[in-house]
Amino acid sequence: MPEDCIFCKIINKEIPSEILYEDDLCMIFPDINPVAKTHLLIIPKKHIATIANLAPEDEKLIGHMVGKARDIAKERNIDGYQLLYRVGKGGGQEVFHIHLHLTSDQG
Ligand code: AMP
Ligand code: ZN
Repeated sequence: MPEDCIFCKIINKEIPSEILYEDDLCMIFPDINPVAKTHLLIIPKKHIATIANLAPEDEKLIGHMVGKARDIAKERNIDGYQLLYRVGKGGGQEVFHIHLHLTSDQG
């Protein structure tokens, strides 16, 4: 884990966050700077800098994260939402620990 990774610090509880869901593989918390009524981040506990670096053995983890995004949206009765991975600086990625944005005007 890179020492300066803000999301690893959230996982290790070195930086406080409102953890909405957590299991062995991933964690969900609100985006600190929401761009929609609901704006959550789903992150893996494993530090992977970007989707571009994803190893074949990590592909299942992406499916797990998408499934947990679906589940938390359903729990909140959100039936329409956006899921987004930004990839690389050119894709607007600012935090280099992969994260799935879940945004919705509902919730
Ligand atoms: P991206 O541009 O896809 O890399 O998005 C990074 C996101 O992380 C932005 O939407 C930030 O608002 C969010 N963010 C940065 N620091 C924190 C934090 N400490 N807690 C929650 N969200 C954060
Ligand atoms: Zn990290």
